[in-house]
Amino acid sequence: MSGFLKHGLICLLVLCATGLFLGFGNDITLSDKKGVHLPMPLELRGWKGKPISYCHDPVCYRKVPQVDREAEGCQYCGKEVFQVNFGEKMILSADTEFYKTRYDRRDGVQIESGITLCGKDRSSIHRPEVCITSQDWEIMYQETVQFDIPGREPLSVRVLDLTNKQEGKEDQHTYYAYWFVGSGRETADHMQRILWMASDRLLKGLSHRWAYVYLQGDRDPRTREHIEQLGDLLSELVPAVSGS
Ligand SMILES: [Zn+2]
Repeated sequence: MSGFLKHGLICLLVLCATGLFLGFGNDITLSDKKGVHLPMPLELRGWKGKPISYCHDPVCYRKVPQVDREAEGCQYCGKEVFQVNFGEKMILSADTEFYKTRYDRRDGVQIESGITLCGKDRSSIHRPEVCITSQDWEIMYQETVQFDIPGREPLSVRVLDLTNKQEGKEDQHTYYAYWFVGSGRETADHMQRILWMASDRLLKGLSHRWAYVYLQGDRDPRTREHIEQLGDLLSELVPAVSGS
């Protein structure tokens, strides 16, 4: 199929999916079913987790990883802290749930992971590429990786290798990995999720609470070690957060 035809077909599918959302939105049952078990675990074999919190104070306004966020508040200004950053809070509906955890491995490898769970407004989840490239990060390479997970079929995860180049500064190399989870469904493909959401609405009159899982960390641009690190964490994390 030519690139133009393929593009046309994809556009048509998007239009159909959008039409389904708009046209059948009135008789939809909002299901509370979800495909993730929360909150995120802090104890995993080989990894130790700490909840990540954000201060919303306009003066302070910085990322504050804390162990006991409920009791301590922001360590800089003492005000209340949240698991959602200020920008996300402004954009997303109030009943969207957020869980963010920083996982540390004994050898110093650090991976941040988070799960965003839709509330009643099912549009809280979007394609991450849009946000990433608007924050000066360039996608150097991307692929869908199959990770072995004990006791189940391999998990497909979209992995983006990112680089931030700024004049006078050393290049920063990170990665961003993600997939989507619905009730009994998971995919690393944004378009697949949109089509599933549309078909569930149309054929079953149902709208499930989809969740979005991400992992991010630093990478060495000369190696693919970060894929091994991701696989190591995912083999422990995925069984712990699977199920409703
Ligand atoms: Zn503060």
